[in-house]
Amino acid sequence: MTDIRRLYVLLCGYEIIPKTVSTRDLGARFVLSVPITAYLLDTASGWVLFDTALDESHLNDPEAKRRMFTDAGWDPAPVVRPHHELGRQLAEIGIGFEDIGTVILSHLHADHTGHLKHMPQAQVIVQRAELEAGQTDPLSFACFGSDFRLPGIMWQPIDGDAEILPGLTALSTPGHTIGHMSLRVDLPGTGPVILTADVGDLRENFEHEILPGASVDDTAALASIRRINALVAETGALMLMTHDPDQIQQIRLAPDFYD
Ligand SMILES: [Zn+2]
Repeated sequence: MTDIRRLYVLLCGYEIIPKTVSTRDLGARFVLSVPITAYLLDTASGWVLFDTALDESHLNDPEAKRRMFTDAGWDPAPVVRPHHELGRQLAEIGIGFEDIGTVILSHLHADHTGHLKHMPQAQVIVQRAELEAGQTDPLSFACFGSDFRLPGIMWQPIDGDAEILPGLTALSTPGHTIGHMSLRVDLPGTGPVILTADVGDLRENFEHEILPGASVDDTAALASIRRINALVAETGALMLMTHDPDQIQQIRLAPDFYD
């Protein structure tokens, strides 16, 4: 049995990156536009959001854009058009940030934590190791403390794999960051879906076991790629990648959904 009714894939913008950010030491001459993706689940226990995209307000303010992106070495800055905005996409589905009861964060990089500040009512599930790293200085260049070092966030740290709801399981997949996690979602019609988050940005990370550009632990990062591959092989799950520019054009995007 599963408590999950629908999965919405939310395309929330693009990052413009040298390919080596996705594939370790491979493709330095190529520049990719990779999607920033978040996922919304309609469940028997309310609305669950997996990752919260990038906060476009940082990009719409020229001073903030310079300070947080281009001057900080994140150049060119990401692109978030109005139709990519998370709040706007939720509204198209008929809900708002205030309706989200649970946020699950794959990890604390800025393209995943942007709108957390808009959901103070939500419980926020994160791996304990990731949360602890996020409270420790110096903070990784890829993290915006202003997104998540905030009073009043209802953190619910977990350790390792955990069943969050019937049909919704957190999969510990460290390596890219110390407490990175992926999700397994069991849908009534589609069957199992694996949301890989940043275990590998691209299909080729999984097909050829290529490490992500950045990791805090390469051995763990490779083990996480292999874990996802084994799970997909074993279950026949649909694998949805957060940052794959090809797959994003081939799948159902919100307001369409998987059920
Ligand atoms: Zn990411």
